[in-house]
Amino acid sequence: MEILLVKNAGFCFGVKRAVDLTFKVAEDESLPAVALGPIIHNPQVIEELGKRGIATVDKVPDNNSIIIIRTHGIEQNLYGNILKSGHRIIDATCPFVKKAQQYAKLLSEEDYQVLILGDSNHPEVKGILSYAGGNASVINSSSNLPILGRKVGIVVQTTQLQEALKALISNIVGKVSELKVFNTICNSTALRLKETEKMARKVNLMLVVGGKNSANTTQLAHLCKSLGVTTYHIETASEIKKSWIRGINKIGITAGASTPDWIIEDIKDKLRHIGG
Ligand code: SF4
Repeated sequence: MEILLVKNAGFCFGVKRAVDLTFKVAEDESLPAVALGPIIHNPQVIEELGKRGIATVDKVPDNNSIIIIRTHGIEQNLYGNILKSGHRIIDATCPFVKKAQQYAKLLSEEDYQVLILGDSNHPEVKGILSYAGGNASVINSSSNLPILGRKVGIVVQTTQLQEALKALISNIVGKVSELKVFNTICNSTALRLKETEKMARKVNLMLVVGGKNSANTTQLAHLCKSLGVTTYHIETASEIKKSWIRGINKIGITAGASTPDWIIEDIKDKLRHIGG
């Protein structure tokens, strides 16, 4: 049985930066430190951080603490309130997400009606929206457009597909007098999707590794399934069943941006162990 790993599987630049910053806080700092919301969408990493004293909380604590901001960023008001209340911030927002927030702010300041292409429930999108002014909307496809004004500006959730952005632009371009687009899609996601697609076309089974709550991991699993290859989305090696690999001679592994190397290694070990 051959086990193949997708190039660029696992931690992306932004997640690696956030995780490194957070582990450093756990080692170096004496003040209590908490992560405001899961620092990344991976339950095993969150658990490991918890063991090292960094709890994940959903609201800002009262006592003087270090507040670590997750890769997806937070809403503008909340950021301001934390600073005002005297806590120290360690900002692990991915620089690419920061850029999307800044572009949303810029568009709003230049009087554009801001459209954010993305999932309105995702924390990254909620954060970007908070910078985009009162006349902004989140849309999840080119077909659910709000009433459009004369000047429209677009920013994009970093994990969206280029095709979705192209469809949106071509739907809007004839309807407004001015259209400004900031393509804030992250290359890392696009690259991982491309390499995963290549892999899914040449194996009999795909294992997609990462948090079930991770948007980009779920996207990878959907992609593989849509190509007709048998696909399992798992978080850890313990979920692998022997029956999955019976009669399989080539297994592909891909992993979302928030999946650490040690989980991928565990999975390879388990496959070698049960597959011979
Ligand atoms: S996928 Fe891209 S935008 Fe998201 S955290 Fe990683 S580097 Fe940043």
